[in-house]
Amino acid sequence: MKFDVAIVGAGHAGVEAAFALARQGARVTLFSDEPCLPYFRPRLIAVAFGQAAPEAIAIKPRKAYEDAGIDLRHGAVGHVDAGARAVDGRVFDGLVLATGSRAFVPPFQGERGRARPLWTLADAEALRGACAPGRALTLIGGGVLGVEAALRAAEAGLRVTLVEAAPALLGGCLGGDEAALRGALEARGVALRVGVGVASVTAEGIVLADGTALADDVLLCSAGARPNGALAGAEGFIRTRPDLSLAPGVYAAGDPAQPTAARPVCQVRRAQLMGQLAAGNLLAEREGRPTEAWAEPALPLTLVAPGASVYVRGETRGEGLEERRLEGGGPGAARTVVCREGRPVGLRWVNTREALAEWEKRLA
Ligand SMILES: Cc1cc2nc3c(=O)[nH]c(=O)nc-3n(C[C@H](O)[C@H](O)[C@H](O)COP(=O)(O)OP(=O)(O)OC[C@H]3O[C@@H](n4cnc5c(N)ncnc54)[C@H](O)[C@@H]3O)c2cc1C
Repeated sequence: MKFDVAIVGAGHAGVEAAFALARQGARVTLFSDEPCLPYFRPRLIAVAFGQAAPEAIAIKPRKAYEDAGIDLRHGAVGHVDAGARAVDGRVFDGLVLATGSRAFVPPFQGERGRARPLWTLADAEALRGACAPGRALTLIGGGVLGVEAALRAAEAGLRVTLVEAAPALLGGCLGGDEAALRGALEARGVALRVGVGVASVTAEGIVLADGTALADDVLLCSAGARPNGALAGAEGFIRTRPDLSLAPGVYAAGDPAQPTAARPVCQVRRAQLMGQLAAGNLLAEREGRPTEAWAEPALPLTLVAPGASVYVRGETRGEGLEERRLEGGGPGAARTVVCREGRPVGLRWVNTREALAEWEKRLA
């Protein structure tokens, strides 16, 4: 009898786990609550601003699922019983919970319902309908998603204002190199309001904490995400054992899985690696082999958008670090090597890739 596995959630973690298990001969049922093929979520920004077609962002074509024997089922799973390894009452030999995240829209005062999220293909398609060239778009949130969306919206001919409550963009990870990113945004016509929060949302726009009223045609909120809650604890995360297991034959992977004390971030590569590990451990457990513990990877922060790019890797903030600005890189670029006791431990590259590969090799 084939090893019969259910995967709940067909995002990056779920798809990775599904193919890894199918390759090892498991019978895989992959449950998706979205009506489309699983897709590469970061590309939603390009879809929202008309720079990619929805069908062009699928992770794999439908035939790949058919060839691998993966049964991709559309419709939300209502109930998971980890103890019984049951999904909506059907019992499996193994389960992987990979339910991902959903957009977080803060509890703004006023017309909060006007603040649109961008987390699903449905969100992207709705935005696409609303975002004609010449319209005014206000974007709340200067993280990776917000900055890329601002640049793509400007590329699509919208009049863009980016609002960030914190004193710096991208969570402050660029330090003194942030000027290069701000310069690129402003060169593309993006108006920046950094260090001032939103006081309220009105029918015509938003009012900032300093009293400024900004009118918009479209209001997009990219203020972070919250894990989706199948079997999640109070803060929404799924607390697993170090090997991502929750119960015999039951594993979690992707954004909500929290096997270590480190606060996880939403990252595609992290979700994929977790999907692979959950699949591998599920098979190891079945075959009586030891399972492997999850090691939180040190992934770079990357942003590539029309008119700007950012790459931040390693240790770039903290005590005892010295910064070395490198010359060159081209107009509007910044390159900083962060050192501890003279040895490079972190890199910040903005608007250039010059000599990046070489410096990566030198990173301690
Ligand atoms: C616009 C945007 C841009 C981003 N840009 C980047 C980037 O540049 N780089 C980067 O690393 N990361 C980026 N991210 C974050 C990245 O997309 C996530 O970290 C990644 O998708 C997590 O993968 P996952 O498999 O855990 O979850 P998801 O990709 O969220 O997939 C989970 C799936 O499970 C489904 N699901 C949930 N509950 C159920 C249920 N009960 N039944 C059935 N299905 C269910 C969800 O609908 C979803 O389809 C971006 C995210 C967004 C939205």
